[in-house]
Parts: sequence; C-alpha cells; structure tokens
Amino acid sequence: MRDEALKGLSFGTRAIHAGVEPEPVTGAIMTPIFQTSTYVQPAVGEPHDGRYDYGRTANPTREALEASIAALEAGTHGVAFASGLAAIEAIVKRLSVGDHVVSEENTYGGTTRMFNRVLSRFGIEFTYVDARDTDAVAAAMRPNTKLVHVETPTNPMMKLCDIAAVADVAHAGGALLCVDNTFASPYNQRPLEIGADFTMHSSTKYVNGHSDVIGGLVAVKDAELADDLYFIRKSTGAVPGPMDCWLTLRGIKTMHVRMQRHNENGLAVATWLESHPKVDRVLYPGLPSHEQHDLAKRQMSGFTGMVSVDVGTLERTKALTEHLRIFSLAESLGGVESLVNVPALMTHGSVPQDRREAMGITPGLVRFSVGIEDIEDILADLDRVLG
Ligand SMILES: *Cc1c(COP(=O)(O)O)cnc(C)c1O
Repeated sequence: MRDEALKGLSFGTRAIHAGVEPEPVTGAIMTPIFQTSTYVQPAVGEPHDGRYDYGRTANPTREALEASIAALEAGTHGVAFASGLAAIEAIVKRLSVGDHVVSEENTYGGTTRMFNRVLSRFGIEFTYVDARDTDAVAAAMRPNTKLVHVETPTNPMMKLCDIAAVADVAHAGGALLCVDNTFASPYNQRPLEIGADFTMHSSTKYVNGHSDVIGGLVAVKDAELADDLYFIRKSTGAVPGPMDCWLTLRGIKTMHVRMQRHNENGLAVATWLESHPKVDRVLYPGLPSHEQHDLAKRQMSGFTGMVSVDVGTLERTKALTEHLRIFSLAESLGGVESLVNVPALMTHGSVPQDRREAMGITPGLVRFSVGIEDIEDILADLDRVLG
C-alpha cells in the first residue's frame, strides 16, 4: 500500500502493509527480491520505466523498504543504506568544509569514532555536549552549525534529550536536527512528528529485529532532503543489497508485536533488577527512578528492552555476564533473543578512556538487550547468576 491508502491506518497495520504491493506479473503477495545489478533499457538513454538503469541507483525491493520506513516514521521519504553508520555519514556529507556539527557526547561508539577520526579530517568540526541539557546544546551552536545530532535514549547510559526543545534550538540557529532513533524504534518514538528533520536507524537492531542483517534507514518529511540523500548515496555507494532489504522488510511486519513484548520484558527486568541487592543502579527510562522519566513518558510510548545496570566492579560484571544461559554475551541489540554486553570493554572500547569514564561507562556497567523469550525464563536466568 502507498500513501493515500495508508492514511488513517494505525501503526501495526502500516507495519504490515506500507510499501508492500502485489507483484504485477503474478500477483505474488510478497515483495520479490530483485537480485539484479542492471536493467534492460528499451532504447538508448531510456531507463526502464523512466528510472531503472543500474542497481546502485534504483532497486524495487529497496524502494518497498523505503516506503515502509517513511510510513512508520511519519515521514514522506525513506532512504536505505548499507549500515547505520553509512546512514549517519550520508547525513553529515550534506555539509562542506568549515561547517560545524553539535553532537550528543554519549552516542554510539562508532558514531563518535567516525566523527573524530574520519569526517573531521575533511574539515567538518564537531562539538560534544550533554544533550539532556537543552541550554548546553544552545550554547554550543555557532554561526556555521549546520547539524545537531542526538541519540535518545543514548547507548548505554539511557540519557534522553527533549526532541521538541532541541529541534527549536537547532532551527533557531539555522541548523537541522537528526535523531538516532535506533534504541527507541519507530513503534515507541517518532522524532519527525515532534520537530526533527532526520530520523535514522541502525536497522540492524529493532527495525529488522532478527540479528541477521546490517543496515541503515533514514526517514525525512521533505523531498529536497530526500533528494540530497539519494544523490549522496548514488554518488558514494553505500547501498544495501536487495536480499538484506527484503529481510528487513520481513522483520518490520512484526515490529509492533515484537516491540510490545520487548517493552513488557524490559520493564519487568528493570523492575526486578532494581530491587536486587547486588545491583547498585538501574538505568531504564520506564522506571520512576529514572531522572528523566517524565520526559520519557511525554515523548515515548514504550521504553524498549534496553536496560543498563551498574554492578560496581569488573569482577562482579564478569560473574554476572559470563554465566547467563538465556542471555548471550555479544555486541548489538534489538533482536528477538536476549543479549548482554559490557560497554566499557566491548561496544564502547573505541571511546577514549577518560571520556568513557566521565560518561559513567565504567567496567561495572552492564547493558542488557532483553529479548522476547518468556519472561519467567529470563528472570530465572538472572536469578540463578545473581543469586
Ligand atoms: C548499532 C548502532 C549504530 C551503527 O549502526 P550499524 O548498523 O552497526 O552501522 C548507530 N547508532 C546506534 C544507536 C546503534 O546502536
């Protein structure tokens, strides 16, 4: 279904139908995997159907996925990339030498690494702020600031940023706002509806949800921004393969059902851990103890399966994480299976130690991606190890 037919349909119905149309030759209900690099043209210089000339430029499976994420994020256009980092890179590549970016300081480790060690070499400047504090974002704005990049909730500290307020600050300074919505998923939070200009995902995580694809998705509500990104992607090449687009489209069809269970299990695990004597602190926006719980309730409709806890020491971290059975020790998140990760030594190993510690990413910090297994088994696994 496209545009008109989707109007007024709720999230779950859109997750199943957006972008998906019966295939015209056979009526196949499932979007085919157009596993092709090129298209036969009817005449010299005439792409098939006016648009299909080469696989980097256009692919129907990819277009179905893009229509789907646009509909789920309340945008007008979606743009699919080979990875989440490729998506962020393309958004920054709209800028030029001498431009400035204000970024949340506790973003995904790979995002900071790309900003500091790759994109800064091309003459783009980055300033890092704690975007919980909207005034700190405002104070970091400069006349050449073109982009504000935030993540909310952040990985792994679960800090939130007030999207609507930060959008106002960015726009007042002539910049655009990009929200990395990977942790929340479009089911729980839709940044474009409250002022953001770009919302992006590492679709590797909740959007695909099955830990079998690396991918990135952006949604925008402006045709010119979409054209910029299509042009940058065509020119620089970070396209996802058709099979990966198809798997992600398949994952999306159950997003609302998966997210309901992730939200329930996440809250149950966070509540259970908070009452456990061996856990010093639980970071989960859905708990009343979270310092930004009110903001969480305002801009999110559920709080996901991402739960971080502080157990104090590396020794206790190892005792907790290396003997779980339902939770596998692994990087990544957002799949149907439960994972556990030690950010200081795994996902955030590339962040300089002083910055890491300043953000609270200590060896005692453990991050759970609570899956959609039965909650009794998940809690029993934690209980067996924590005692
Ligand atoms: C994983 C992740 C990324 C990077 O995405 P890839 O698909 O691994 O390139 C970016 N942001 C967040 C919040 C992530 O969790």
